[in-house]
Amino acid sequence: MKINVGKIKNVFGKNDSLEYEESLPQLIVEGGDIIKLTAPLKFSGQVENLGDRLLIEGAIHTAVELLCSRCMEPTSIPIHAPLKEIFANHIIADEDEDEIFLYEGDELDITPHISRAIMLELPMKVMCKEDCQGLCPECGINLNLKKCQCVKETIDPRFAVLEKFASQSFTEGGVSSGSTKGENIEGE
Ligand SMILES: [Zn+2]
Ligand SMILES: [Zn+2]
Repeated sequence: MKINVGKIKNVFGKNDSLEYEESLPQLIVEGGDIIKLTAPLKFSGQVENLGDRLLIEGAIHTAVELLCSRCMEPTSIPIHAPLKEIFANHIIADEDEDEIFLYEGDELDITPHISRAIMLELPMKVMCKEDCQGLCPECGINLNLKKCQCVKETIDPRFAVLEKFASQSFTEGGVSSGSTKGENIEGE
């Protein structure tokens, strides 16, 4: 996505609103990872001339394809990511700024910055739907689509921990409530 800054790059204090939309099948992230896009890539914001640099600030809106954490089916997830970057067409010494990106001519390619901003907004856990049944741990069938004949003999380790915890807190319950009573009396 290229932003034209021809009208603004030499006018100190000027700002311009930006509305860009592009249909891209995918974005390539630093390191070679690919983000599949399932909706148009939109950027709305503004560019401001701060003298020796340009500030671009706005928001990215799109949707990406990720795999459901439970059933591994491709799932479209809406993404809204903030973008704020500083660009200059010559190297400027400024120790306060984290990073100033160089550009040439009248166009500023913000695509790599968009990719990075989207990466930061990707959810850790993806669900194709709230009640996704996931895959059968025995035969691997997608339980959203089909039922299988597997008997679940193995207890999910997470539930095993909960059961252990529940029985412990049950046996310790009397002791702990007794000590709470004692503290209350002391307090009064
Ligand atoms: Zn799922
Ligand atoms: Zn099964």
